[in-house]
Amino acid sequence: PPRNSNAARDIAYALHPYTDHKAHLETGPVVISRGKGVRVYDDQGKEYIESVAGLWCASLGFDNERLVQAAATQMRKLPFYHAFTAKSHEPLIDLSEMLIERAPAKMSKVFFANSGSEANDSAIKMIWYMNNAIGRPEKKKLIARIKGYHGITLAAASLTGLPVNHKLFDLPLPGFHHVSTPHHYHNALPGESEEAFATRLAEELDAKIIAEGPETVAAFWAEPIMGAGGVILPPATYFPKIQAVLKKHDVLMVVDEVICGFWRTGSYWGSQTLGIEPDILVCAKALSASYLPISAVMVNEKVFQGIAEGSSTIGTWGHGFTYSGHPVPAAVAIETLKIYDEMNMGDHVAKVGAYLQAQLRARFADHPLVGEVRGTGMIGAVELVADKATKRNFDPAQKVGIRLTKVGEQNGVILRSMANDSLGFSPPLIITEEEVDEMLNRFGKSLDEIMVTVRR
Ligand code: PLP
Repeated sequence: PPRNSNAARDIAYALHPYTDHKAHLETGPVVISRGKGVRVYDDQGKEYIESVAGLWCASLGFDNERLVQAAATQMRKLPFYHAFTAKSHEPLIDLSEMLIERAPAKMSKVFFANSGSEANDSAIKMIWYMNNAIGRPEKKKLIARIKGYHGITLAAASLTGLPVNHKLFDLPLPGFHHVSTPHHYHNALPGESEEAFATRLAEELDAKIIAEGPETVAAFWAEPIMGAGGVILPPATYFPKIQAVLKKHDVLMVVDEVICGFWRTGSYWGSQTLGIEPDILVCAKALSASYLPISAVMVNEKVFQGIAEGSSTIGTWGHGFTYSGHPVPAAVAIETLKIYDEMNMGDHVAKVGAYLQAQLRARFADHPLVGEVRGTGMIGAVELVADKATKRNFDPAQKVGIRLTKVGEQNGVILRSMANDSLGFSPPLIITEEEVDEMLNRFGKSLDEIMVTVRR
């Protein structure tokens, strides 16, 4: 990059999340300067359609003026206050009420943090504290899934089931366990139906809890649809079967709605799409359309009562962030939830999400490089394979998915490549059918261009 350009200064000074810095030092970043609707523009003026809404999060696109106003108004009124030691403020109270009203199951209280990782860590500490408070401190172990993604702080990364987040960090921490990914396409036995596959995974969980000792297992953690792990939809009966096992062993169901919440899957919550009845719900990202950082943990009355009990039996719950429920992101979140309601976002996603899913399948299911097209509502993935018949993925050394994202950039679409060269689609929810066409035209062109460069 030219000297003194943004890219050159980025190379000189910035350490990036999730980045191969050796390569970055040579190629530098795409520097995004501004946004409009579902599009972003780099500092050279080049335009891109954002096929994943940034990181599955900018659900109202990149120029919503009402959210700007909500932040500015709150900043002028009360730019900061905290929620420690019996202080509160109106944005925190209003947003708590709105979330409880919209929850997928009967929830009792809301706790705020700043990121999905912090929210998951907070939920873990609620559960550990609660079980101590009610006299069963040994009920601590947590079970999540291989390929699940719950964040990168040490506890959340221990829930996460991806090797990149574990190796070199001595993770997972003791007491964090993982069971199989509910991905029928890759993990079913030959001839196994979705139903039989779901039953087998529920049996695996049951056996795991029994092997560990049910009196030591506190909670099961899951995204309704795995996002970062590759947009993996479980069979329809998977969660009901899983929850029957959890009930039997008195293990809490924690649902991580960080990606799936707020209409992404076609229902307000992924829990509703997948038939989950959570005891604890974690959300972030689209909660504020990602205009400012905020996340939330909702707990049901049983969990809250356990936590309240602790105040008298074991002392204060020693957890909370300076910015828990910060009034400015809370005000933006309140406005975001109002916009979803006023836009009838459910109707919009029903229509345009169905169009997106139909187009993904019509255009790409028969493509020679595509093994599986999956998704529902406004979330989907196209998985690339070297061999359609055997479902064999490309040798990771070829970096086919990553290379495709680079070609996509040249063609004006920002793509996200995940494990197994799965390309995720999670555009801003406000996307129109015309914009879906434009996005998929650019993706299709990029896919055809990469095809001539891959080795089977
Ligand atoms: N949970 C899920 C399902 C996520 O997708 C993510 C981030 O992508 C997280 C948790 C972690 O959120 P954050 O990056 O805000 O810490």
